[in-house]
Amino acid sequence: MSLRALCLLASSLLLPMSAIAQTVPDKTSPYYAAQKAAVEAALKRAPNTGRAKNVILFIGDGMGINSVTAGRIFAGQMKGKDGASYVLSFEALPYTAFSKTYSSNNLVTDSANGISAITTGFKTINGGIGVDDTVKGGVCADAATHVQTIAEQAKLSGRSIGAVTTSGITDATPAGTYGHTSTRGWRADGDLPAEAVAKGCVDLARQLVEAPEAVRLDVAMGGDLEAFLPETKGGERKDGRDLTAQWLKQKNAKFLTGKAALDALDTRTAGPVLGLFSKGDLPSPVDHPQDVPTLANMTDKAIDLLSREPDGFFLLVESASIDKWHHKNNAHRALTDVDELAQAVSVAMAKTNPEETLIIITADHSHGLVLSGYASRETPVDGVAKDKTGGVYSILSYATGPGGHDHEGELTAAETQNPDFTNPSLTKMPSAAHGGEDVPVYASGPQAYLIRSTVESAYLYQVMKRALFDVAAKAK
Ligand SMILES: [Zn+2]
Repeated sequence: MSLRALCLLASSLLLPMSAIAQTVPDKTSPYYAAQKAAVEAALKRAPNTGRAKNVILFIGDGMGINSVTAGRIFAGQMKGKDGASYVLSFEALPYTAFSKTYSSNNLVTDSANGISAITTGFKTINGGIGVDDTVKGGVCADAATHVQTIAEQAKLSGRSIGAVTTSGITDATPAGTYGHTSTRGWRADGDLPAEAVAKGCVDLARQLVEAPEAVRLDVAMGGDLEAFLPETKGGERKDGRDLTAQWLKQKNAKFLTGKAALDALDTRTAGPVLGLFSKGDLPSPVDHPQDVPTLANMTDKAIDLLSREPDGFFLLVESASIDKWHHKNNAHRALTDVDELAQAVSVAMAKTNPEETLIIITADHSHGLVLSGYASRETPVDGVAKDKTGGVYSILSYATGPGGHDHEGELTAAETQNPDFTNPSLTKMPSAAHGGEDVPVYASGPQAYLIRSTVESAYLYQVMKRALFDVAAKAK
């Protein structure tokens, strides 16, 4: 008999029944009481089985569980609070699941298939957007391979639709609302090979602006100004097209290039809005860029614009820079963007009625970030810890990426807490590889109760479709 079994036997023989009953503690504490109240709140929760007037899909690009945990601690500590117990806005939502993100041809997905599976219900190859899994990368995909996105379907149902992101608006995730391509890199005309052009394929910037009106975005905000302007106007288009001028041909359409213009926008009267606030991706808020809106600013205005439609709206909001900075092993800026996402979710929650708005927050894939023990609870999460032999290590490190582990001399907290610090990585490579583990999903609103268990990423499409189209609206 093992020692543990002996102890259990001895305790069961020695303890009278009354003592066993006291294994439920009679002590309490604010922490204990809060957990008790959380269970009581969960017991009162009734599933919302109704129709969703609106759906807001938030993507934390590359936001795996470790990004959420480290991001929560970082956000709390940056606000002068206890990081470990801090709660990001979306963590308070009632329903969660795990999502399996692999693509039709890879164990680990890129952002193209990552979003496409969620917005179309079909997994495709890495690099594919709005297409099925029969396409070949680099080869123009014919129309038979195209699959409608949830945004296009929402527009056809009478709703207004939008996409806002901190990446370029022709990057993979926002293109998951309007794009159909085998090859995510075809963002401006100069990116397409002659064979693809000959077969009739067009770049994603043109797809956004030239989509049939019946499925065209009403609001699009992010970066990538250069993909919309000809070289003669400071852009990178070789075909001489000015897509911003084309956009402005729509009734009451607006084209914005700065935060001041976005702040001044009259959202009660504006028609379709295209906001391109930088070339390429938007800069990090850590660097205090001038005249660039935050994700929360863009989300706020997008909801004001889209919610004018009485039939409701679909909005995709992407915090893209989580991924962009993880690729550089820059945990400080990546985790800053987890909080940017949380703030955008707070704005959406404050501006919408939870009874009629399905809100989903998830990631398209993870990243190889690790949060390693055993620093004291007060230690800054971007600081250092000591192992038992006195060796100092960075609490945050990566599986892959430019950081490497050839640091000379002892790491210091001052070094690792510098926003420009490149966190260490096990395998050195120019750009960190995505992580392949399941990612979290958080949800509230109509049909959100179906977000549970371990699901395929494409399952989220089915939940949004059901919420928007398949259940009857409640009689008023
Ligand atoms: Zn990435």
